[in-house]
Amino acid sequence: SAPGLPAGQITALQAVDVWRRHFEENGVSEPEVSSRYIVAHLLGAKTMESLGRERLTEFLSREKTEQVWRLCTRRLSRMPVQYIIEEWDFRDLTLKLRPPVFIPRPETEEMVELVLTDLRRKSGPGLGSESQLTCVEVGCGSGAISLSLLKSLPQLRVFALDRSQDAVDLTRENALRLGLQDRLQIYHLDVMKHAEAVLRLCGSVSALVSNPPYLFSEDMMSLEPEIYRYEDPAALDGGEDGLNVIKQILTLAPLILSNHSRVYLEVDPRHPPLVQQWVEENVEELQYLETRHDVSGRPRFCILQKEES
Ligand code: GLN
Repeated sequence: SAPGLPAGQITALQAVDVWRRHFEENGVSEPEVSSRYIVAHLLGAKTMESLGRERLTEFLSREKTEQVWRLCTRRLSRMPVQYIIEEWDFRDLTLKLRPPVFIPRPETEEMVELVLTDLRRKSGPGLGSESQLTCVEVGCGSGAISLSLLKSLPQLRVFALDRSQDAVDLTRENALRLGLQDRLQIYHLDVMKHAEAVLRLCGSVSALVSNPPYLFSEDMMSLEPEIYRYEDPAALDGGEDGLNVIKQILTLAPLILSNHSRVYLEVDPRHPPLVQQWVEENVEELQYLETRHDVSGRPRFCILQKEES
């Protein structure tokens, strides 16, 4: 249960302290960080550090105090802080977030860098700069990957697909807020069911990128409450071997990519050898190029390339 509202006035720092201890006592993960993000957010800032000593040590109004108590009580029921403050930073973007749309994870920022590096090279002088660069994202969620790519590459056009209406709506909302809607087409469709639609809508693209649902179904049982209570399982569960959606993407890839264009996939660390083997046995026009590691040193990204036979 939540601590009662304080009888007297308290400061921002004291409020953080009360809730940090309360989170700790109730086994809420990241107790300090959680209370700091929430209090900073209610004071109109991203971090406590950016507020300065004075703001942190003056008394909160009664209204602010009640807001702190209301939002921190949500954290007590394990709602992720990203959903509580309704936004989160991904690379150079601040995205609006709400449940159940998947919360972008930091490792995915690295996949954006991989795609950007390759697409910049493709669009470089003398290498087809006259032609339009296009990218398909399968499972756009909040729009983190697509919008980052659009922001960094002014000549890029993106097709963003998702089978969840919540995700489609949120990607559209984020695109509008960031002024990136003009070069973005968003489609509400499921690549597992509507392969022909994907082929019809997105032809001859310069890249295909996805952070698909890739967890092994049995690992869905051991997720933290932050994830299983609030995030859409359809964005996480990749089936028995975690490869259901990945296999579908790899099957479609050669049909929508232009020759020598690449697929970028975020996967489970156990996946890269399985992906490589499956592609070698099943997808003739796709060549496995390399596995890249995430910041924690785990194999995390697969890069493949279309080679017409
Ligand atoms: N990395 C995510 C997690 O651990 C899973 C992401 C995914 O399935 N695309 O929750």
